[in-house]
Amino acid sequence: MLGIRVQKGKAEGLKKYLQKNGMLDGKHKVFGGNSFIYFPLSVEASTWLKRKAKSMGTTLVEKDFEPTPERMLKDASRIEGAARGYDMYGSIAVIEADPAAARKMARALMSVNKNIKTVLRKGGPFSGRYRTRKFVFVAGRRNYMTDGYRENGCEFRFDLRKAFFTPRLGYERKRINELVNDGEKVMVMFAGIGPYAIEIAKRHKKCRVVAIELNKEACRYMRENIKLNKTGNVVCEEGDVNSFVSKYAGFADRIIMPLPKDAPSFLPAAIRMSGQESTIHCYQFCRQDKINKTLAETKKFIEKRGAAVRKMAYRVVLPYSATEVEIVIDLKTKINKI
Ligand code: SAH
Repeated sequence: MLGIRVQKGKAEGLKKYLQKNGMLDGKHKVFGGNSFIYFPLSVEASTWLKRKAKSMGTTLVEKDFEPTPERMLKDASRIEGAARGYDMYGSIAVIEADPAAARKMARALMSVNKNIKTVLRKGGPFSGRYRTRKFVFVAGRRNYMTDGYRENGCEFRFDLRKAFFTPRLGYERKRINELVNDGEKVMVMFAGIGPYAIEIAKRHKKCRVVAIELNKEACRYMRENIKLNKTGNVVCEEGDVNSFVSKYAGFADRIIMPLPKDAPSFLPAAIRMSGQESTIHCYQFCRQDKINKTLAETKKFIEKRGAAVRKMAYRVVLPYSATEVEIVIDLKTKINKI
């Protein structure tokens, strides 16, 4: 590509000139030899340019300029077989790409962001009862354990392969946390490694939080994370949500149901665990053009089971597929007196 060569002592002046006139190419690296500096140009060669270069005591040259790391990253995510963006879990970056594209992306990522020590790629979708996913090692240190992953003022440690977790829900967890009043009794069904429960407990010291989780490994990390964040006001209950219905009947002021795959089928359990009045946050996958229908069905379902829906709102949390989104329905319910 076209560049311009200048003697070392004159490089600063030329750089300013090029920048001022929009001629410096920001996507490639400037480099230097013993006595010259080479700047990549964003303009084509022309007679005028040649003359101008000469008059400034510089020379136009054809050189292979290296792309900047930012540029490499952009190019890498444009490669066929790679999706844009990546997720950070402490020092681990997770990308979505086929093996060849993944290696290119990993190189670019590690040179742009020095905090990245490991690059993994997604090896499939979240699946099974525990909603876990496979990860394939791509570059750096072979490691699957988060270190220093922080979210909303809490730290979470876990092995990515053993339990569900996505940083993409970080904003949603913050939103819910801001709705909580201190002193509430909160039930987190499907609690995973504990992010909802621990973040709420950390911010609201008088809350009692019960976190139910089926996956033994997730529970092990949840207990570690409770200690790590000094949130003694969280109780981790290991097992199926339905097996805790009698223990926590009438318990909760607020119930969080982050299992979009089949949270609605646990609404009867949620109603039984609700106090006289409660707020329920029910996550669901839903076709984009069927949101209103889903809301109406959910309301009807709850009302059939003996609770009135006093308020209902929804928000799209994440895209899920070409036609589906993940929504959260925020409901205020009141148990009907018999
Ligand atoms: N709330 C967590 C995890 C959500 S994923 C987070 O935001 O990161 C859903 C979790 O529900 C998984 O960890 C899965 O193991 C758990 N799960 C699935 N079915 C369950 C059931 N019947 N009872 C309790 N937990 C269940």
